[in-house]
Amino acid sequence: MKKTKVPCWELPELTDAVDPVIAYPESSMGYDLITCTSCGQIYAAEVSAQMYVEPLEKRLANLGCIKCEAALIDTCAAYPETYVDRYGRVRTHSRSLTIPDDKDAVLREFPSIY
Ligand SMILES: [Zn+2]
Repeated sequence: MKKTKVPCWELPELTDAVDPVIAYPESSMGYDLITCTSCGQIYAAEVSAQMYVEPLEKRLANLGCIKCEAALIDTCAAYPETYVDRYGRVRTHSRSLTIPDDKDAVLREFPSIY
C-alpha cells in the first residue's frame, strides 16, 4: 500500500486518541481519513478517487488492514468521528463545525486506500 501526505489539523481535545488529527475534503485534492476499528490504523482515502476511480466501499471490499489484517470493509469507520483510543477501545468524537486555518495544517503521512 503506497503512502500519501495529507494536510491535517491536530485535535488537542482528543487526548486519548493515538493520532488526534482531522482532514477536510473541501477541495478536489481533499482526503477522508478512515480508521480500522480493530487496531486503530488510520488510512487516507482521496475524495476525488472515491468519485472517479472506485467507490470507497467497493475498494475496501478487497483490502485487508496492513496492521491487523482484518477485512477493512468490516472494520473501517470515518476518522476521527470514530477512533480507537490508546487502550484499544472504540470511541466517538463530534468534529467541530469550525474549519481551522490553513496555516495551522500539518502534513501527515498515511497508507493510501487508492
Ligand atoms: Zn487493523
